[in-house]
Amino acid sequence: MRHLFPYINAALDEAVYYEKPEHVSFLFHGYRCFLYPNLAAAHFFESKMAAKDFIVCLIDFLNDIYNQKENIRPNYDQIKQIPIIDILKILPKTNCQKCGYLTCMAFAAAIIKGKSAADKCPSLASPINENAVYPIFDNNGNVVNSVSLRINTSKLKNRIQEQQEQILMLEASLKTNKQNEEQNDSPRKSEKNNFGLTNREIEVLKLIAEGYTNNEISGILFISPHTVKSHMINIFNKLSVNDRTQAAVLAIQNDII
Ligand code: SF4
Repeated sequence: MRHLFPYINAALDEAVYYEKPEHVSFLFHGYRCFLYPNLAAAHFFESKMAAKDFIVCLIDFLNDIYNQKENIRPNYDQIKQIPIIDILKILPKTNCQKCGYLTCMAFAAAIIKGKSAADKCPSLASPINENAVYPIFDNNGNVVNSVSLRINTSKLKNRIQEQQEQILMLEASLKTNKQNEEQNDSPRKSEKNNFGLTNREIEVLKLIAEGYTNNEISGILFISPHTVKSHMINIFNKLSVNDRTQAAVLAIQNDII
């Protein structure tokens, strides 16, 4: 299973790939899932039936990832697990509960388990720079210390770069379309080539072109991230493209969206 970790890390926006012990953690069908080389764990299920359904879906998902390996660019970025005590050191230890946890210790444990994020505590909400150096304030608002908390910014950077490239390509495509329309007075073809896309896939494609992430699309269309991913794979196959940008450009060029 280990060889799938970089592909899961690339395919799921919220996946985190840990260096030691090597494992990947992600939200799947609303459950936090941990995959180790020889072990899979997830929590918390309301019933045995829910757990069984989850296992079936997870196996389908892993088979999907395996079958789509050639279409996914693996992401080998790993992060080191931070000891709970190191996180506790950078928290104010006031137990103010603004993070939603009863104590700072519980919040630190939640970060380690991937159930909460650093920015949920006001003291960690504003890293000084992208290396995630956090200022520590005293009760009067004075900065008394700073601590470097390692965060995985590569996905954020990749997404921003991807969106910038997407915007540039969309602008170029729109410009070309406009020029073509100006040069050619003939009416548009009444028949569109939809490449066999379903209405749902076209909806997903529109949201891709607008720059939404898989998670955001999942929220907007009220479908699971796994379903979004299935639609994406179908879209890529039907359009014969390898990434979101190519899909969006082709869709605009062919008047699909
Ligand atoms: S918000 Fe920050 S200071 Fe308050 S309890 Fe949570 S971790 Fe501790």
